[in-house]
This record gives sequence, structure tokens and C-alpha cells, in this order.
Amino acid sequence: MTIFHTPTEWRALRPSGTLGFVPTMGALHDGHLALVKTALAQCEHAAVSIYVNPTQFNNPEDFAKYPSTFEDDCRLLEEVGCGFVFAPTYETLYPDSYRYRVTETETSTVLEGAHRPGHFDGVLTVVLKLFNCLQADAAFFGEKDYQQLLLVKEMAEALHHPTKVIACPTVREPDGIAMSSRNRRLNPAQRALATQWAQTLANTTLSCDAATQDLTELGFTVDYIAERWGRRLGAVHTPPLDNGPVVRLIDNIAL
Ligand code: AMP
Repeated sequence: MTIFHTPTEWRALRPSGTLGFVPTMGALHDGHLALVKTALAQCEHAAVSIYVNPTQFNNPEDFAKYPSTFEDDCRLLEEVGCGFVFAPTYETLYPDSYRYRVTETETSTVLEGAHRPGHFDGVLTVVLKLFNCLQADAAFFGEKDYQQLLLVKEMAEALHHPTKVIACPTVREPDGIAMSSRNRRLNPAQRALATQWAQTLANTTLSCDAATQDLTELGFTVDYIAERWGRRLGAVHTPPLDNGPVVRLIDNIAL
């Protein structure tokens, strides 16, 4: 597996044949690896980017505490047969210091966008930069971040980007919680409670209001529970049980 850091290096390395691209922020788990496996099933080569993108973090503490496990990530990627890892620096990806950005004005203003000002500008901008650097045939995104998936798909169409955006289902832990790099920050008491977050969101016999009330009674702070795009989507902050950190969790299910 080859690790590279700049688009110039990539131009020399890029193999012939179809390329599938999986953008990530590292701290990889089986959800990410499922995307890489799908990329390798549909394309001859796979490239994964590992970059914790500062411009998409509206909360500096969330950025500072974001887990970083680069060596482990590379080992896991090698095991599933990924050929290439792109690990750029801020200077490489943002020669403009983020003066140029992609802003969407509808889908990005609700739900996640309403609660995380600037988040989707950062996401769309970095994804477009990565797409331009990699020049892949297809890029694979998880339904776990459903609003992000919709926005990236729409952006590629709107800007006539040749990379095809492909949706992959959410991979869950046995107790139903969606795999997430942020789950690593939960202590055992919070991790146990998080099961009820996943179960409550998925319990469609409850209205969104009733689910919000149940989650609030369990101690979560609810950003939103809402139905849109044929899905039920939600975001909560965990309570700081046993002095644990407040961790923001998002998830969605098909209705
Ligand atoms: P992240 O590293 O969290 O930015 O995620 C990188 C990609 O992996 C995004 O397309 C996510 O939607 C996807 N992803 C993260 N967690 C999961 C999961 N549990 N199942 C499927 N895809 C996921």
C-alpha cells in the first residue's frame, strides 16, 4: 500500500484502470472498511483519504479531541486490499487558506446544517478538493451521514464533476448503534446508554416528539429528531455520565 501526501505525487502514482475513492477522517472502523470493500468490488483500485478537515468543525473542542490512529488505520486498509492512502496537510489542501468555498443554500440549511453553522461549507469544499486531487471514477459515502451524502451527490451533479457518488448502507454494532469514530470517546456507562439512543430513533411507533421526550428523559440533549427524504434523522449529545465527555451522536434510518 502506498501512502502519498500531494496531488503531484498522485499524478505519478495513479494506476491505469478504474479507481474508487473513499474520503475519511481516519479512526477507521468496520463502517469505513465496508466502503473500501465496496469500492474494491466495483473498481480495480481503491484510494482512501485520511484527513481531519478543520473547516467542517464548528466546535474547536470536537476538532481537538477527534481521535487520530493513523498507523492502525493504515494496517486495517492494507488488510482489506486498499492500494493507496492520501494523507494531505492543511497547506496542501488549502493553498487559499479557505478563501474559496462551496456553499449550498437549501439542503445544507436544515437539520445538521441548522445546528452546525458552516459545517457543510467545510464538508463540500474539502470533498470537492479531494475529488479534484484524486480524479476517481467513483466515490463511496455512508448513509450514516445521510444529509452529507445527499449534498455531496447534489454537488457532483450541480458542478458536473465526473466522479460518481455511490451510497453505502450504515454499518452497526450488534446492539444497533451506528459505528462512528466518536463512539471511541464514550465511557462504558455512556456506551451502554447509547444503545437506547439507537433503539429510540429506530422505534418508528414513536412520533418524533415522543422520541425527543424519551431521549431527554434518558439524559440526552436532543438537537433534532425529524423525518425527511424518506428517513428519520436525529442528533443528540450524550449526558456526561461518570464524568464522561459530552459526545455528539448522529444517526438515521429508512422509513
Ligand atoms: P468520517 O471518517 O466519519 O468522516 O466518515 C467517512 C465516511 O465513512 C463517510 O462517508 C461516512 O458516512 C462513512 N461512515 C462513517 N461511519 C459509517 C458507518 N457506521 N457505516 C457506513 N458508513 C460510515
